Amino acid sequence: MNIVLLGPPGAGKGTQAQRLGRALQLQHLSSGDVLRAERASGTELGRQVAAIMDAGALVPDPVIVEVMLARVLSLPEEFKGVLLDGFPRTLGQARSLDEALEKAGRKIDGVVLLKVPDEVIVERISGRLSCPQCGAIYHEKVQPPRVAGKCDRDGAALVHRPDDRPEVVRERLAAYHQQTAPLADYYRGRGVLAEVPGDQPIEKVEEQLLAIGQSIIKKASS
Ligand code: AMP
Repeated sequence: MNIVLLGPPGAGKGTQAQRLGRALQLQHLSSGDVLRAERASGTELGRQVAAIMDAGALVPDPVIVEVMLARVLSLPEEFKGVLLDGFPRTLGQARSLDEALEKAGRKIDGVVLLKVPDEVIVERISGRLSCPQCGAIYHEKVQPPRVAGKCDRDGAALVHRPDDRPEVVRERLAAYHQQTAPLADYYRGRGVLAEVPGDQPIEKVEEQLLAIGQSIIKKASS
């Protein structure tokens, strides 16, 4: 069972993927979290991608494909599959993912596009807080932590991601429209795309995603 969450930065993919992954027993794999962890541990890869990420651009396909396929293909036993968040982000990445899954006798069973208008994104991202330790996501107004500035799960001090600054968000949105938005047609053509308006209360989006996720699982097992 392999599901992809598509959508612009700030659409709520991270928040929703964490919840949906738990509900459907899918391993949540966020390419952004993977890269941020590499940077935090000071690896060669982390150093390679730092400037690109800070500029809001996409890291080269071969780099991210190698990193993500290694994780997708070594699925721990306790999970029924993966829930991909932030990968694939280009047609080249989507094709590489399809090929690798096919070789492993797996496939993309469903793709959900979270749709949020650009004008909502910049405002939303400016209030976003993230936990540098566990990746949990909060929002100053809409979804504040229980104790101001502290992660509910591990108490770490929450941060504004450096690439959440408005000028970088605009670059990330441009990259999304040029390179990632065409993936919707790619997956629509394969009959696996569903769309959910992401500009609704978190619980509503969660409810709709859960229903779609369950129907993807039902269809795959029938
Ligand atoms: P995210 O947390 O998904 O917004 O990702 C943060 C940054 O990591 C992006 O702005 C890119 O620089 C990089 N990144 C994450 N996923 C990918 C990907 N699939 N392809 C290329 N770059 C990526």
